[in-house]
Order: sequence, then C-alpha cells, then structure tokens
Amino acid sequence: MRDLRLVIFDVDGTLVDSQAEIVAAMRLAFAAEDLVMPPRTQVLSIVGLSLAEAFARLVPATDAAQRHRLVEAYKNAFVSLRNDNKEMGPLFPGALAALEILQGQDHTLLAVATGKSRRGLDKVLDRHGLTGVFHSEQVADHHPSKPHPAMVLTAIAETGVSAERAVMLGDTTYDMDMARAAGIKTIGVSWGYHPAETLKPDIMIDEFAALPGAVDALIGAE
Ligand SMILES: [Mg+2]
Repeated sequence: MRDLRLVIFDVDGTLVDSQAEIVAAMRLAFAAEDLVMPPRTQVLSIVGLSLAEAFARLVPATDAAQRHRLVEAYKNAFVSLRNDNKEMGPLFPGALAALEILQGQDHTLLAVATGKSRRGLDKVLDRHGLTGVFHSEQVADHHPSKPHPAMVLTAIAETGVSAERAVMLGDTTYDMDMARAAGIKTIGVSWGYHPAETLKPDIMIDEFAALPGAVDALIGAE
C-alpha cells in the first residue's frame, strides 16, 4: 500500500470566491458601530485571519469591547447574507473537478484549514455539496489565527500522515507562513486575495487544473 498523503485547503480566496460577501458583511459590521469601513483592498488583505485578529489589524485604535461587538456583528451579517443570497461565494473555476480527481485517489486525504468559524465553514460546504469530502476540518473556533501552525499540525495528527507527505494550498502569506511553521510543503494560488508575488510557495499555480500535477511534483505520485 502506498503511503498516505494529505492536501490541506484554505477556503476563502482559494476554493471559494467569497470577496463579495466578506466586503458586504464588513460594511454592515462597521455601519453597526458607526465606523467608516477601511478601503476594500485593506479589507481583503485580512481575509484568512481569525475575525479577532482581522479587526485588531483593521481598527487597531478601538478598544477590545468594540472589537468584540464588530466580530459579532460581522458573524451575524455574514450568516444573514448567506441565507438571503444563494448566488454569493461561488467556487473558483475548476475547483470541483480538481477535488474529484484528488478524492478519487485512495492514497490522498483532503483537509481544510480556514479562518472561518465552524458555522461559516458548514454553510460553505453544504452550499457546494462538499460535506464529507474533507477528512479533517480545522476552523478558527478552536485554534489561534493563521499563521500559527496549530491548524496544520492538528490536520496532520488527525489523519496520521507524516509532515513530509503533506502540502498546504492557499492564496495568502498567512497560509504559506502557517505551512512553513508546521514544516510542510506549499502550493500558492494566483487567483486569491494576496498579490501572487508575495506568497513565495514551493509551487505557484494559475488554475485548478494544475493542482493534481503540483501535488504529485511536491509529495510524490507514488
Ligand atoms: Mg484565503
């Protein structure tokens, strides 16, 4: 039997193009606190961090109580937007086909490591028919924010795969730094929310069709 290998996926900006709903939920959260939302590019730069860490960066001058209210307002806005508009947050082109190829390999396990909450991830997986696809699902509720390696280390431990046989797929420096801190390989995607040249992954891909080959190149076809 071939050694198991593990592909860990980031969600926002990697699997799902969620920028429209993230920006809309941010707008509602800032409005609820009578604050001016930072520019869109700044908002997108924090996607992938936990919400507490994200607001600490977006509004460093506000106090902890207000940041807590912003986090709660954002979560509620996000869920109500999701319930209202089924068109928001499509998968990136080719994501489903790439997942199906990897899922069809009996030596390849799939995992998620996301700054989303459990509730937020469940909604995304349900909407796109991906419930049960991932063998390990790591969310922000029980881990420190990326780039802390906790989510990757837990995914490796849960699946029993060695670090040498694991790779992280992501669109931000937070994903790449998290993976490197955990001692695993990195695949960057150029279609996400951080400039591609900032990622410095082991392999950069420009389309999902390139993912199975990149995984084979980094952690072995055998
Ligand atoms: Mg991301």
